[in-house]
Amino acid sequence: MSLTSPTSEAGYSVTRIQQKIQAAVLPVTGHEKLGLGAALHRILADDIIAPVDVPAFDNSAMDGYAFAHRDLLSHQELSVVGKSYAGHPYQGQLQPGQAIQITTGAPMPAHADSVLPQEQARLINATVLDMRDITVHKGQHKRLRGEDLAAGEVALAKGSRLGPAELGLLASLGLAAISVTRKLRVAIFSTGDELRSSGQNLDSGSVYDSNRITLHAMLSCFGAEVSDLGVLTDDPDVIAAALTRVVPLVDVIITSGGVSAGAADFTKQVMQQLGQINFWSVDMRPGRPLAFGHIRNNQHCACVFGLPGNPVAMMVSFYFFARPALQLMSGEQVSTTLPVRAIITEAVPKKMGRTEFQRGICALDASGNLQVAITGAQGSGILSSMCRANCLVMLTPGQENIVAGDTVSVLLFEGLL
Ligand code: AMP
Ligand code: MG
Repeated sequence: MSLTSPTSEAGYSVTRIQQKIQAAVLPVTGHEKLGLGAALHRILADDIIAPVDVPAFDNSAMDGYAFAHRDLLSHQELSVVGKSYAGHPYQGQLQPGQAIQITTGAPMPAHADSVLPQEQARLINATVLDMRDITVHKGQHKRLRGEDLAAGEVALAKGSRLGPAELGLLASLGLAAISVTRKLRVAIFSTGDELRSSGQNLDSGSVYDSNRITLHAMLSCFGAEVSDLGVLTDDPDVIAAALTRVVPLVDVIITSGGVSAGAADFTKQVMQQLGQINFWSVDMRPGRPLAFGHIRNNQHCACVFGLPGNPVAMMVSFYFFARPALQLMSGEQVSTTLPVRAIITEAVPKKMGRTEFQRGICALDASGNLQVAITGAQGSGILSSMCRANCLVMLTPGQENIVAGDTVSVLLFEGLL
């Protein structure tokens, strides 16, 4: 095929490119019904309206004795007339001067509004409680019906990602199955004549393809259905055939390599011939070159990301450009990782005007303050630094050379849930 020289747009900020990409993607259609056990990390397709109150009845937050607080004005002792155990409510009617033994989660009997915790209870004999000098307030240790969720309210909004707490909340409503958006279908491939797969000989000038497995793993963590198309050689016809064939089968195509200005970067040229693709030079490090757009094949259209070939640049570009777009396509809101502030332990040279991500190791110092060290050489191909790191130090375009002791923004790799 004949190729023209692609045009590049230079010098966009990370934020500007994120905005452009996010404005150009739409949520996919298609839902599926799943049992809660299979719904971890999926995205809710509809609002969930609570069908019941949670909790469904007033109950005790402590093991102890349930009583009516006003009785304290008229009684120094209360008679213990029965029990309410979790799953076994008290069946009688509480009369003035009476209390019942109660366990955590057991229904409060009518007229009882407070609970004397077990540890504070003094029994005069098996059925008489001494209430002198008791400091329980009215309503203390009583959990109210509907205090977690009231029937009729939106318990979880459409677009929520289902983590452990969300799944528990759905179960607390008695729901067994829910509608989630379908998984995104994503095809990935690596490009480059130098790439070898494991098992192959590493002949002179070649490198093992690591991006495909990293990309596959990042997409699996995200929750996409991944088709691995392997390695494509730097041959425009091969790349064109692969792209065209896969467009009808997937929502997104993600490639790595071949989008910078190098002589053999045919991915860029082929993409430009086949679709509406932007080639950006982003003011960031690592990860300057980026391709994004759409390729059509008849009535089908797939969104395309051409990520840089250098392994760390590829990962960083995935997180900051592809992942938010995939979230929107999945029907989710874009979730931004909250930066934390840490004191940097060393100087970092930094150029004004671009975003730089340094791989860092965050730890608490002896006084409990967060500090961050850099993992050493920051070349965009040094993948071992991503393994040593537990965070990215994010230096914004307005920042210049950093000195030891400066406070910087850090994005931690791991969250709690
Ligand atoms: P490119 O973006 O194609 O110019 O590649 C930039 C650098 O990334 C080169 O050193 C490539 O060998 C390397 N590279 C490209 N693709 C991969 C890959 N899939 N796995 C590991 N390294 C890669
Ligand atoms: Mg290449």
